Amino acid sequence: MRRRIAAANWKMHKTAEQTRAYLERLSAQPLPSGVDVVIAPPFTSLAAAAPLVRASGLALGAQTMHWELQGAFTGEISAPMLLEFGVRYVILGHSERRAYCGETDASVNRKVKTALDQGLVPIVAVGETLDERARGETAAKVMRQTRAAFEGIAATALTGVVLAYEPIWAIGTGQNCDPAEADGVMATIRSCVAGLADTPILYGGSMNAENVGAYVSRPNIDGGLVGGASLDPDGFAALIRNAA
Ligand code: PEP
Repeated sequence: MRRRIAAANWKMHKTAEQTRAYLERLSAQPLPSGVDVVIAPPFTSLAAAAPLVRASGLALGAQTMHWELQGAFTGEISAPMLLEFGVRYVILGHSERRAYCGETDASVNRKVKTALDQGLVPIVAVGETLDERARGETAAKVMRQTRAAFEGIAATALTGVVLAYEPIWAIGTGQNCDPAEADGVMATIRSCVAGLADTPILYGGSMNAENVGAYVSRPNIDGGLVGGASLDPDGFAALIRNAA
């Protein structure tokens, strides 16, 4: 039985003070026990988030990390630095990191290996652009990204990973992908690498409290990686309840 997960990707939103206020509000609400909730704030809010996340039974995530454990990598953050704050999940290969920060299939692969070595759960994001979808290249793109992310990793080690299918054209646009279409792409992702049969796969792309139910009722969709709709604690709490 795969776990259901609701992961909040705050991107470059919320100061430490805003993080505390958000988490106090979120944890004051009844949340279902059947959904693992991950909060991925900016690095600068991890210290503020850590005690509140721990006290309310949520999990802490980070939005990226470097593959090296230390060294001359100005501006970067390593796995041990994340672990020090109690981080359990790390989002790797988000399309915004690929588009704006030079993330490649090869760097995602190195980061996934480091995350698994260090006991972090990588949430590996894959997805196609609108043009790639129009050209009928969705399956080829997500299979390439998925195979590259896990290259050189034994199938038995993949029990510790989470995937996110995030059609790039659906991220932050209000144009969510049809759940049946997303489910089909996720079936492709699930079957393209040995060892992913029991891997939670999240949908990401304009998911909200109203549409989450239509996704998680599909056989291959185990929850959401949520950007905009995770920024308001009441709205995210409603999304978590509707995901249960
Ligand atoms: C994301 O960036 O991971 C995401 C899914 O964003 P949004 O929910 O805002 O589309």
